[in-house]
Parts: sequence; structure tokens; C-alpha cells
Amino acid sequence: MPMTSQRPEAVTVPRRSPTMTGRMRLARYSTQAAVTGIVVWVIVKQFVSDGSGAEGLCPFGGFETFWTWITTNRTVKHTHPANLALAVAILVMAVAGRSFFCGWACPLGAVQGAIHAIVSAGTSRIPLLRRLRRRTTRATSSPGGWAQRLDHLANFGRFLVLAWALIGAAYYGYMVFREVDPWIALINVAEFEFNLAFVMLLLVIALSIVIRRPFCRYACPLGAVQGLIAKASPVAIQRTDTACLGCDLCNRACPMNIPVNQRTRVTDTTCIACLECITACPSRDALGIQIALPLLARPSASGPTGASPAPAAEGA
Ligand code: SF4
Ligand code: SF4
Repeated sequence: MPMTSQRPEAVTVPRRSPTMTGRMRLARYSTQAAVTGIVVWVIVKQFVSDGSGAEGLCPFGGFETFWTWITTNRTVKHTHPANLALAVAILVMAVAGRSFFCGWACPLGAVQGAIHAIVSAGTSRIPLLRRLRRRTTRATSSPGGWAQRLDHLANFGRFLVLAWALIGAAYYGYMVFREVDPWIALINVAEFEFNLAFVMLLLVIALSIVIRRPFCRYACPLGAVQGLIAKASPVAIQRTDTACLGCDLCNRACPMNIPVNQRTRVTDTTCIACLECITACPSRDALGIQIALPLLARPSASGPTGASPAPAAEGA
């Protein structure tokens, strides 16, 4: 008797409104542009006037000085009161909305995202480069693939940098990370100095052409701090298995390369709350923001998705 293949049951799901996703993107890009504009204004003001102020815009400076401050009541060199105030604000934001600062406000993150988007738009007209970029994205976002495993391993680089920055600042009494910090190079770009931090900035810009947010993914200690604190956050992206099509669009849209459709609740320390996965998802009810007590919320799932092969259809 010939074998009959069983066709999976077709399921249609309500499609997400493009107006809503457009508004979400507009809100994020506007916030990033506004924050970047303020930072540029402070940098220009610093350049044309008294030569101080822009370094106070680094929240990580507040974390670097913290140990010295509580043990000796002094701060390490280059610390401004604004650094400490921003560090506290970051802590509160991370509990309230995960690494919201990275996805919505950080100018260095915005610069990396903009470089990648502009270069991608340019290369999409060149078939060879377009294919290469698509293959790279597919390889790094295929669940369980070697490229994704390597990528996830490299994510731990952030914690090594964090440990080195905090221990170094406490031990030596100055900000060791400042020497290689691309953010410091960016805010001091008007007073050009060819140093290690500037080389790091060039490296981050070059890598951003092929990888989305390379510094955020592999080296940012501020992102690592927020990712750890965010574990206590009640807010997270939640995926509903029964509404998920298993189409992979969320994985490919995620700038932090999180396998969203392998999760029930995205609690990864790399999630920057950018909501790109939600805007990319064609199914209205598959992804959303859920508020739940961290210990009571459903943890991340690692198995296959409950995807239906049916295409999204217009629904109620
Ligand atoms: S999981 Fe979603 S919200 Fe988190 S970083 Fe990825 S795309 Fe952004
Ligand atoms: S959650 Fe991801 S895999 Fe599921 S429907 Fe949305 S974009 Fe597709």
C-alpha cells in the first residue's frame, strides 16, 4: 500500500496591523534621534566653550566609580555627578523595561544600527552582496547552527569586559575601560586624538557594516549590567505558541540575534527591548509585551516552536 503523507491542518491567524508596527518603529527612531541630537548638542557646546560636560553623559562611569565611592567616599578620575545620576537611572530603567536604554536611547547603539541599515540598503541593489548578507543573517540566526552557537558564545565577551572594567577601576583607581571605550572616542571626536579608543570606534564602525550592533552584542559592559538587572524585570516579550507561524521573521529581525521563535518568554540578557521582533511578526497575537512577576512567568523554551505552516491571513 502506498504511504499517504499527512498534510498539517491549515490555520489562519489575524495579521498584525502595519499602521501599528509603523508607529512603533517611528517612536523608537524618533527617541533615538532626539537623544543623539541632545548628545551632539552637548559635544558641540563642549567644543566651542568650556571643554567639559560630554563625559558626564556616560552612565557606565557611574558603575565604574561605584566601588571606590562606597569604600573610600571618593570617586575615580573623570567621574562627574551626572555619571552617578545616569547609572541610577539606568538601574531603574532596566528593572522597569529591561535594556530599554540600549534599544531606544543609546547613541552608540543608534549609530551602529544606522550604519548597518544604510549599508544594507545600498548593497541590496548589488545581487552578490545582497546574497552574501542574506546568507550571513540566515546562518547566524538558524537555531542550533554553528554560526549561532559561536555568536552566543561571543555574547559572554560583555561580561568579561564588565568584570575587567569594574575590577580594574576599583584596583587601579581610574577607569581602565575608558582607554578602549569607543563611546569616549565618539564624544571626544571633535578633539581628535588617535588612541586605542579611536581604533575601537573605527573597528565598531567597520564591523557594523556586516554585523548588527557588534559592540552591543560582544563587548558593551553597560549592556551586560542591564542584562543582568533585567533578569528581575517583570516586563518581557512573550510568544504565544498557538499563534506563531514558525516563519523565522522575528529571529532575522532581532538585531541581537536572539532566536525569538525558540522562546516562550524572551529573558535573554542580550534583549534590548527594541521591539523589532514584534514589528516583523506577521501574526497579530504571536508576540507581545507581557508584565508578570519574573519567578512566576513562564521561562524560556528551548525546543521546537509550535509553528503552523499556514500563511498569515487577514482576520478579525
Ligand atoms: S528579542 Fe525582540 S525586543 Fe529583544 S532584542 Fe530581539 S528584536 Fe529586540
Ligand atoms: S513569532 Fe516569529 S516565527 Fe512566530 S509568527 Fe511571529 S515572526 Fe513568525
